[in-house]
Amino acid sequence: MARLGVLLCSAAVLLVLWAAPASGESVPFDADIGLDPGHSYIDVGAVGGGLREFEVNLDTALRVKGLLEARRYSVNLSRSDNGPVSAMNHPDPTERIRIEQEARIAAVGRVRCYVSINFNGLGNPRLSGTETYYNPDNFGEQSYRLAEALQRNMVSVLWEAGYQAVDRGVKSDLLAGKPYGHFFSLRGPQPSATVEGLFLTNPSDADALWQDEIRQAIAEGYSRGISDFLAGETTAGPAERSEGEPNSL
Ligand SMILES: [Zn+2]
Repeated sequence: MARLGVLLCSAAVLLVLWAAPASGESVPFDADIGLDPGHSYIDVGAVGGGLREFEVNLDTALRVKGLLEARRYSVNLSRSDNGPVSAMNHPDPTERIRIEQEARIAAVGRVRCYVSINFNGLGNPRLSGTETYYNPDNFGEQSYRLAEALQRNMVSVLWEAGYQAVDRGVKSDLLAGKPYGHFFSLRGPQPSATVEGLFLTNPSDADALWQDEIRQAIAEGYSRGISDFLAGETTAGPAERSEGEPNSL
């Protein structure tokens, strides 16, 4: 009878487990990748060489989305037009940025990684090249791996396309010297990175960005970097994902 009791007990436990709502871990992802085209017409970003960052970012994001979907990854964009995601009307500028970035992270849903697409702009027009930021205090190891894959592939495809971009490396977002510390865009519930593709304020970088092949090369850099990262993510995603995943080669 004791044995029957154990069996009945086990059956009851199984029933309870079966009836229980899915735990957080078994909730499927909304998409493999969240892509964030930085800025909007309200918060233009860098300007130079006749280019405005919010427009170049969206153009790049749409190209990256196409390339990743061709590799059978699913992609959610934080914005697909030039408007902001939040009202952008908070009187405090830092709060305004925080609210906007949180809205963008929420907009892509649950994703395996989040990549913010940006281009640089600084007062000194001699500064040029590609750099990638990550938040060492948020999925630090994975975020570094994502940032490293993006930076390495980005510089490599630009050189392949004939533009010898300066490799400014992978950097902690704290080195950007923001008064609020870590970038708000790199505080979401997944590994994340921000790529600053080239400098709009550098004449040579800006000239390169007027060429369609260079724009496409940058998109390819994002696509390869993200694919490399996801191919190495053995623990991320539900088991059924492994079947549909493209070969990293
Ligand atoms: Zn930017």
